[in-house]
Amino acid sequence: MCIFCDIIENKIPSKKVYEDENVLAILDISQVTCGHTLVMPKKHFKNILEADEDTACKCISVAQKLARQIVENLDAKGCNILNNCNEIAGQSVDHLHFHIIPRYSENDSIKIAFEESPEQDLDEVLARIRG
Ligand code: 5GP
Ligand code: ZN
Repeated sequence: MCIFCDIIENKIPSKKVYEDENVLAILDISQVTCGHTLVMPKKHFKNILEADEDTACKCISVAQKLARQIVENLDAKGCNILNNCNEIAGQSVDHLHFHIIPRYSENDSIKIAFEESPEQDLDEVLARIRG
């Protein structure tokens, strides 16, 4: 059972921001900021690590268009586009989705902090990533 598949199949109601053959975008029920939107493929994939390239690209393309539309029409100053991938990264619904979170001020109700980790050997990290 997947709650987003149920939304896509209209078994659960949602506020649809955008819909086409492959992608659905809905207002997030929690509205971290006004206009917080979720962009998801209609085909079920757990997350971006598992999705096929075409599906991921279609979602990103819609996310870009909607981010422009949301920022402009809601008079936001910018937005965060987020994808939480796996539980460790905060994924709570196991159906690929991208958050579009409009930003209105530094004090709005989202906090994203990049704190430095202990020093890394960048050459070693690079070698490991390249495999
Ligand atoms: P995640 O934590 O997986 O990145 O994000 C899941 C998001 O889905 C959360 O922001 C949560 O508020 C939203 N969500 C969970 N259930 C529903 C629902 O039934 N309807 C809508 N519109 N959003 C939901
Ligand atoms: Zn699903």
